[in-house]
Amino acid sequence: MVTFPCPICNYQMDQEPVDWRYCPSCGTQFGYHDAGRSYEALRHEWVRSGMLWWSPFRNPPVDWNPWEQVSVFYRPRIVSDEQSVDSRVRMRPATVVLDLEVEVGVA
Ligand SMILES: [Zn+2]
Repeated sequence: MVTFPCPICNYQMDQEPVDWRYCPSCGTQFGYHDAGRSYEALRHEWVRSGMLWWSPFRNPPVDWNPWEQVSVFYRPRIVSDEQSVDSRVRMRPATVVLDLEVEVGVA
C-alpha cells in the first residue's frame, strides 16, 4: 500500500496531505494549521503536548510508537564514547531526541 508521510509527525497516511485533510496522528489540518507556520513549529508543539493520538474516529496502529515515528526528524544521540560505534548510536525512543529532551523533560 502506498503511504504518504505526514510532514509534521511522519505518520504514514493513506492519503496525500493536501489542503483540508487531517493527519489522524498529530491532528494537523493541512492548508489551515500549516498556513503561515512551519512544519517544525507544529512538530515541536505536538511533541511538547505529549504526542497524543489525535483522531477520535480512527485508532492508532497496533504498537504505535510516536517517538519512533517522529524520530526521523531528529539526530540520534551518542549515549557513550566507551562503546563501539554501532551500539553508541541507539535509536531508542527515550534517548533519540537530543533537541527535544530538554524541552519535554525526558532526560
Ligand atoms: Zn501528522
